[in-house]
Amino acid sequence: MNSDTDLTDAIYRQVGEEIAQKVYHPGTLAKAIAEAAGNRSLVESLYVRFRFDELVRSHQRAAQEHKQKAEAEDRQQGIYTCPACGHRGKLLIKEHGSEPIGFLLTLCFIIPGVIYSQKGFWSEGVCANCRCTLVPRLNDTPS
Ligand SMILES: [Zn+2]
Repeated sequence: MNSDTDLTDAIYRQVGEEIAQKVYHPGTLAKAIAEAAGNRSLVESLYVRFRFDELVRSHQRAAQEHKQKAEAEDRQQGIYTCPACGHRGKLLIKEHGSEPIGFLLTLCFIIPGVIYSQKGFWSEGVCANCRCTLVPRLNDTPS
């Protein structure tokens, strides 16, 4: 909450500085003039509002890109961020298969048995904190 108001203040400050230095962004200014419909005193306040929104959007885009990049780097190191609880860390591996069943399947039906016994086929990656599934089948993702 506090960082939100800090950000809002910082963006308003930037808009104020731009206006003080008479640095107007042509597209935003044109939009403000169009919206003001001939009311000159309205142009500047509309401009501030539009420019503010523009800067908020570009800040959100940058934050989103930063987050995606950080997540991609985490993924390479096997670190996941749980969407359910927000926990960030290595996956906990939960095995589903059992060795006797794998052995039995191999005895009766070679192919399914081999697939079943393959390490990781029936194991999933779960959140170390809340145990929700993050990677349904570990074999599907290179580790
Ligand atoms: Zn979790």
